[in-house]
Amino acid sequence: RALASGEIRAWFQPQCDDDGRIVAAEALARWVRGDGSIVSPGEFIPLAEELGLISRIGEQMLAQAARLSAQLAGSGRPIILAVNLSAQHMHEPDFVARTLQIVREAGADPRLITLEVTESLVIDDYGTAAARLDTLRDHGFRIAIDDFGTGYSSLVQLKRLPFAELKIDRSVVTDIANNAEDRQIVEAIVLIARQFGLRVVAEGVEDKETGVLLGNLGVDLLQGFGIAKPMPCSEFEAMALAA
Ligand code: C2E
Ligand code: MG
Ligand code: MG
Repeated sequence: RALASGEIRAWFQPQCDDDGRIVAAEALARWVRGDGSIVSPGEFIPLAEELGLISRIGEQMLAQAARLSAQLAGSGRPIILAVNLSAQHMHEPDFVARTLQIVREAGADPRLITLEVTESLVIDDYGTAAARLDTLRDHGFRIAIDDFGTGYSSLVQLKRLPFAELKIDRSVVTDIANNAEDRQIVEAIVLIARQFGLRVVAEGVEDKETGVLLGNLGVDLLQGFGIAKPMPCSEFEAMALAA
């Protein structure tokens, strides 16, 4: 019912460079119910996966992001928008064709759309995942590896898959102001990313000091409550156009 009545909304969280300029944003799903209450994705995404509804959510999120992308580009403010991809969705037989169709219908440029994938998404069926991501990359989409620094963080995958961007997981970022080892991990990840020509985004940046440290360590873009919280589409659009 929530899907049919448009209650699943894309909110956007800015990703800023050293100078605080909004370069990109991540679309994050929110279930905004009729009474105005908001359900977080941590609650409804696992349920949607279990019920086999996650692909429809993924398509709606992509459509909303693609529409905003076209609007921003049309206003002379091309900002890269990222959507999170689930394993179920990527394994739909018509995933590639539908993705291309949704972005085309919105009038968006795939080069301004990032698809965020996690390692677990790729591990299940590596061959299919790699082929599909390659095809989308060839159509211009940017592919990002999400939550890097947790799980296996396989270096072989960084080489084989068509990534343009690496997102350092919040758990690695949170404590770098106090923890030298965490700083060293960030430094090492940035070095690896450079080797592979990947843009580095840090997520979970909760304060200024952490942001400055990350910039000094060579991280390209910062995302976190310390920069801006995820916000409704209209609010993000106004912020992006004002800057
Ligand atoms: P993610 O893709 O790693 O997204 C980042 C999460 O970190 C978001 O939580 C964001 O609100 C949160 N975050 C950002 N900055 C900070 C910070 O400074 N401190 C803290 N403590 N948290 C911060 P959110 O929106 O609750 O999303 C959680 C996860 O749900 C996402 O993790 C993603 O895996 C999943 N998700 C969200 N939207 C979608 C979607 O449209 N499709 C799919 N498949 N998964 C989604
Ligand atoms: Mg993400
Ligand atoms: Mg993440």
